[in-house]
Amino acid sequence: MIDLDNLKNQLQVIAKYGSAMAVLGWDEEVNLPPNGHVFRGEVLAQLSADIHKRLTDKQFVTLLNKLNKPDSLKKLSLDNQVIVRETKKDVDLATKLPTEFIERSVKLSSKAFPLWAKAREKSDFSIFAPVLEETIKLKQEEAELIGYKDSPYDALLDAFEPGMNTKKLDAVFEPLAKSISDMIKTIAKSPKLPTTIYDLAKQNELNHDIVATIGYDLESGRIDTSPHPFQTTLHVTDVRVTTRYDEKDFWVSLGSVIHETGHAMYEQGLPAKYWGTPRGESMSLGIHESQSRLWENFVCKSQPFVSYLYPLLVKKYGTLKYTEEQLYKWLNRVERNPIRVESDEVTYNLHIIIRYEIEKDLMEGKLQISDLPRVWNEKMKQYLGLDVANDALGVLQDVHWAHGAVGYFPSYTLGNLNAAQLYAAAKKAMPSLEAGFAKGEFKQLLDWLRVNIHSKGRTYSSTDLIKHITGEDLNPAYLAEHLETKIKLAS
Ligand code: ZN
Repeated sequence: MIDLDNLKNQLQVIAKYGSAMAVLGWDEEVNLPPNGHVFRGEVLAQLSADIHKRLTDKQFVTLLNKLNKPDSLKKLSLDNQVIVRETKKDVDLATKLPTEFIERSVKLSSKAFPLWAKAREKSDFSIFAPVLEETIKLKQEEAELIGYKDSPYDALLDAFEPGMNTKKLDAVFEPLAKSISDMIKTIAKSPKLPTTIYDLAKQNELNHDIVATIGYDLESGRIDTSPHPFQTTLHVTDVRVTTRYDEKDFWVSLGSVIHETGHAMYEQGLPAKYWGTPRGESMSLGIHESQSRLWENFVCKSQPFVSYLYPLLVKKYGTLKYTEEQLYKWLNRVERNPIRVESDEVTYNLHIIIRYEIEKDLMEGKLQISDLPRVWNEKMKQYLGLDVANDALGVLQDVHWAHGAVGYFPSYTLGNLNAAQLYAAAKKAMPSLEAGFAKGEFKQLLDWLRVNIHSKGRTYSSTDLIKHITGEDLNPAYLAEHLETKIKLAS
């Protein structure tokens, strides 16, 4: 047990470095003066290099390998076996990428980001194209270092979603894209609400009230403002979210804060006694995103939730110029939008599938950077029926590639797929679930998520976790059925 305690201690040291990075990253988004970014970037790069060094340290790896021997492993409890097994995966991945490679990656993304921002501002793809070419080459190099069986894209996917590969994604994304493309052919004009001004201070109060009622522990969390809403974890007792505000649309802030709270409640529900080890960590991006999307789209856009919300809005802002029914239809509207982050929950998945297909072809060398804007626009036409006005509204809209995040996009739609399947299982297990929402009761659902998902940490892979809870493999029929109800409302 001395070896195991030693391993846990060292993992907690690494996690404390991670916590320091989280507070610095949070501060960068929420408070940092513009001139502070360059130095903050250097500090964060230094800390991530230190973490990498500790994770690949010779003595640490020797200790881990000793614990990972079948004889030693057998003697450990199941929870401790998870710690050793998952740490081994993390260390193996970290060892495959030399420090020199990590440094090159960090440098390339700091070079890429301002070029992307300039290209988007001028809507000129040629400004970003050369550095994007370098990025894809670097990602191909990364895939070779990590290793893969079928597609180099698999190596990248696995880092975000362990066990996921292009074969599994093709099997799910292809039928989903087809069914959504067919569905949206029938959508009519999207509903609008009469212009209303929602006082910002009141929005902030209402956001706090609602997420606290849902189950976000504000004694171990806080809500701040940032241009791009996010959630970050410093420790299980300090899980923060941010949001942004629009005076004419209360849902901009409330919707974001609910989404981020979904992430935050997952983090607050991880087992505290295993903090700093994989047993106390979230499973994957796709499972994380299922938690945010479940609350945002499945709970908080449901009719019973709107029945709970409407009187709260009236209490806060006085008599409204629209009815509860109008609010419900507006929240669930479906419309074709060229911008991913402004899209509704139906068409959003098509945006993701387009990016997935493009990334896969780039990584496999089947698509050249110079052809990218044309291919992007063709796919937008094919899937969404949209003509893209310019590259700023098309291929240049997302920051991900400038950050070197290739393989990240699929986790958004995986989150939707997981959320749909989990929510169906939750409703089956608790038939009175939604009736409770109308009365502001959410504890039943949160408890179910705590028991089945949050408390498990990284015990199961995401695919096993879904199967364990719902009794079947990832099945796109649940999401398709849910989206079909949105289409019916919008037709
Ligand atoms: Zn999210």
